[in-house]
Amino acid sequence: MMQEKLSLLNRISDELNSDLHPDRMLQRVLSLTVAHLNATTGSVMLFDQDNRVSNYILQQEDLSSEMADRIVGTVLTEGFAGWVLNHGEGGVIFDTRDDERWVIYDDQPYDVRSAIAIPLRRRQRILGVLTLVHDEPNRFTEADLLLLSAIADQAAIALENAQLFRETEQEREKLSAIINNTQDAVLVTNQENRILLLNPAAQEILGVDHPGQNACLSEVTDNEELLKLVSPASPTAGEVSLADGRTTWGTVTEIPGVGRVTVLRDISAYKALDKMKRDFVTAFTHDLRTPLATVKGYIELVRMDGPITVRQEEDLDGITRAANLMKSLIEDLLELSRLERLDELTREPVHLENVVQSSISAMQPMAQSREIDLTMVDDRANVVVEGNSVLLSRAVSNLLDNAIKYTPAGGKVQIKLDQQNGQAMVSVVDNGPGIRARDLPRVFEKFYRAREELDTTPGTGLGLAIVKTIAEQHSGRVWVESQPEMGSSFTIALPVAENGS
Ligand code: ADP
Repeated sequence: MMQEKLSLLNRISDELNSDLHPDRMLQRVLSLTVAHLNATTGSVMLFDQDNRVSNYILQQEDLSSEMADRIVGTVLTEGFAGWVLNHGEGGVIFDTRDDERWVIYDDQPYDVRSAIAIPLRRRQRILGVLTLVHDEPNRFTEADLLLLSAIADQAAIALENAQLFRETEQEREKLSAIINNTQDAVLVTNQENRILLLNPAAQEILGVDHPGQNACLSEVTDNEELLKLVSPASPTAGEVSLADGRTTWGTVTEIPGVGRVTVLRDISAYKALDKMKRDFVTAFTHDLRTPLATVKGYIELVRMDGPITVRQEEDLDGITRAANLMKSLIEDLLELSRLERLDELTREPVHLENVVQSSISAMQPMAQSREIDLTMVDDRANVVVEGNSVLLSRAVSNLLDNAIKYTPAGGKVQIKLDQQNGQAMVSVVDNGPGIRARDLPRVFEKFYRAREELDTTPGTGLGLAIVKTIAEQHSGRVWVESQPEMGSSFTIALPVAENGS
């Protein structure tokens, strides 16, 4: 007998492990248990988190669905399964006619005289109730309850595993549907740059149907920009141009233990729009130059034409100031658009010290007229970068111009040249009014002017945008550190020339 029980438990355990589909698995367990305990038939009722019946599995398949619904409804509220659920323990009904826990229907398709039921319990929660019935009374014993409870323990664990597996599977299907249907190209590569996943958009971009198992990215594409972006040492975002003329913006995210996820988004439309905008601004600005020169010419003519009143003189000064500001605006805009269109900089070794010295000489008269002490500190000779000295002088002069312009008379402006970790750094430090935290991230934007009192300081809001573009053209960057009332410090960092210093 003992031997038989063990063999039944073994067979059930095999069944439980052989199928991860919850319904099929329970159906088989039910058949084995019904056969072994010589029951007429049996059922498993499963509950959701709110103890509502989520599934009803019958060994007897020929029960009409309407009948099944009725049994489920009644049994839970007044029947035996409801009793098991509420008491959290199994029970035996020796004779259904003497036991109130059994609900008898007039049109029940089969006669039930005895029954046995056990909860499927996992971590304090009852996942379901397994019930076996017989058409004769006194066919189940308390000893059967022990065996059934051993079966139920195993079934509950397998059921939970199957449900977790199904949830994971559904999550996986959802994610794969998203990845496969997104317009963005998604490629996942491992540490050795071998392809783990390409979604359809990525396959289209790379022109491959199915890359070979574990293919290396460099075997399926020769797109230099993409290979550089995905390689571990590269920056984590950048433009990638495709062979068909489209431009994409790629971002790379490191996923520890997996590799790198690269997402390429088509930005061709934005690029075209941006180009249109720039072409328009350039053409328009260019055309403004002639009428502006005419306005300035007429101002001079009016002055030469004869005596004018003091009031007229003031008006002409106002017009001249406005015309001059407009001229700087036009020049800055044209310069910026020239810089942005510059594809490749012609580079030559540039001694930064010369750049700094010539900028200081150019700005010294302005500093003196505004009573600003302009000096160079930490004089480091021989810092050499690759680039264009005219553009670099322009960038440094723009920083000096701002520092002198915004610092009140009597203030100090210092320029420092330094070299650290392969980076040459030019800093312009003033003890002027400083910049508020909320303006700091925006001062390098085109046309952004920070302070309200700027009405009194002429400017175009383009000076720092020009500095930033020049720094980036030289593979460098520019940043600012500043606090209100504490002055500002702008730094341009550029890679030192390979054979420099
Ligand atoms: P602008 O023509 O207005 O000087 P910029 O692009 O050169 O344009 O500068 C943007 C803004 O950044 C300025 O309007 C000013 O508010 C702020 N700024 C730049 N340099 C300094 C500085 N040295 N001290 C304080 N504010 C500054």
